[in-house]
Amino acid sequence: MKSPNWLSQRAVQKKDAIALSFRDGVNLTANTWTYAQLEDEVNLWVAQLQAWGIRSGDRVGLLLANQPRYITLVHAMTRCEAVAVFLNIRLTAKEISWQIEDSQVSYLLYDQFTRSTTQEFKDLEFKNLEFKNLEFENPIKVSYSDISDIDYSSLNSLFRDRCNPLEKRQFGSESINLENLQGIFYTSGTTGKPKGVPLTYGNHFHSAIASALNLGLQSDDNWLLCMPMFHVGGLAIIWRSAIYGTKLTLLPKFDEREVLEAIASERVTLISLVPTMLTRLLEHSLWQNLQQLRGILLGGAPASPELIAHGQQLNLPIMPTYGMTETASQITTLRTEEIALKQGSSGLPLLGNSLRIVDLDDAQRELPSGEIGQILVQGASVMSGYLHTDHTDRTDRQQSQFQGIADGWLHTGDMGYLDRDGYLYVVSRRSDLIISGGENIYPTEIETILLSHPAIAEACVVGILDREWGEFVAAILVTNHNNNQLTLTEIRDFCEQKSLARYKLPKEIYVWKSLPKTASGKLLRQQIRNQINI
Ligand code: ATP
Ligand code: MG
Repeated sequence: MKSPNWLSQRAVQKKDAIALSFRDGVNLTANTWTYAQLEDEVNLWVAQLQAWGIRSGDRVGLLLANQPRYITLVHAMTRCEAVAVFLNIRLTAKEISWQIEDSQVSYLLYDQFTRSTTQEFKDLEFKNLEFKNLEFENPIKVSYSDISDIDYSSLNSLFRDRCNPLEKRQFGSESINLENLQGIFYTSGTTGKPKGVPLTYGNHFHSAIASALNLGLQSDDNWLLCMPMFHVGGLAIIWRSAIYGTKLTLLPKFDEREVLEAIASERVTLISLVPTMLTRLLEHSLWQNLQQLRGILLGGAPASPELIAHGQQLNLPIMPTYGMTETASQITTLRTEEIALKQGSSGLPLLGNSLRIVDLDDAQRELPSGEIGQILVQGASVMSGYLHTDHTDRTDRQQSQFQGIADGWLHTGDMGYLDRDGYLYVVSRRSDLIISGGENIYPTEIETILLSHPAIAEACVVGILDREWGEFVAAILVTNHNNNQLTLTEIRDFCEQKSLARYKLPKEIYVWKSLPKTASGKLLRQQIRNQINI
């Protein structure tokens, strides 16, 4: 199915409306682009990409920090029908080189900020070239283009030779095939190696429309993008803004002060945050600026009940959200006014998506409301499968567990339940589940209690293999103000007072200086488990 190119259509219909505002963290000035200007810049990039030899179907790796040309490049790739591969600039050169190989990238775009990583990668690559049996489709084709070296004046003339921008703008004639692959995203790698997720234009389109049906759309909407664009939660904001024809405010990175200042000066209305970001914003003296927003989508990781309650007290329009790379960002959302009634819920599926909860060991058996099982999702924004079938997750701990698409449903690897009204409650990841003496124990339940202890700043609960019980509960804690006086007895007494069942009480505690986390603040439990077992 074809759709007119979203950006081109907006460049005709809303040519003078602001499409993008970029707040430079250093100079604290805002650069803006109207829809027509953005379209013109995209056309320049199309000419450049084509001059480099990029053609329909080519996979083009983006190794870039958040910046305006990330957005123009993404749109330009759509015109060239190239497939964008979103590379996480925080990874090591070795990890990136694995993703480049895995996704068969043939062009890698980087700039001066990622030059050193790329240099390291090139060095690896040169070494790798010696062993040509590496699975690169065609190592010779890999070209390294330093996009900071572009000569815009020659580009302009190159572009003028090829087409007339006004003509293009008048008709908005480019089209997007919704079945085409837009990009390859990698999951965060919280449970192991990141998995490659191909998403189509149709996936993004449905995700954007479903989100608007949920939030409503206002002509002055302005979504703040402060998370990395290589995560789908960041990139989705580019598509939403183009599809809605609204403004996007871009920041180079997440910084509490810059986010709060941008909300006020740019009149931001919507923001997507992971829980650690919201916690940091609430600790800042300018937190009141958050009250100007009409929606705060909060997801990507479990949010503590304390954080949600704090947001409620301050009258913030928090919308707890569940989503993942495989679903092109949000898939369920709870409305702010329902938080009190549905405490701990991530809400209802957005229109066009469905949820099922199935037995952990028998995915054919659907569970009634209230019972915890694996969360399955289906819908127009869900990927049709991982990039390679061997990305299907089989964690060491649960060999029999399948993660991926089966019978049209995505087996998420997450556990949760639905209440009678169909509201989703996410409980844990399947791979984090602790089974002790045959009883299921969910780490987050214990962590929530531990975090309510005044001396505990961070907590992680894992299962440790045990001959007698199968596994037993251990808690790894970070204390406030280096308080190392915590004893196991004190922790157990505290948890018992909070009515935690005896079999869930920690049998060992460890006090660490910090806990390893992903960039978005998720606990790297496997790493923690490995560290304990050493
Ligand atoms: P990997 O799949 O590589 O282990 P990841 O699952 O962390 O990494 P993402 O796709 O970025 O990669 O994150 C999606 C996951 O984040 C979900 O599957 C779920 O486990 C967790 N998550 C997202 N939203 C919520 C939420 N509201 N509550 C609890 N967990 C959530
Ligand atoms: Mg995942």
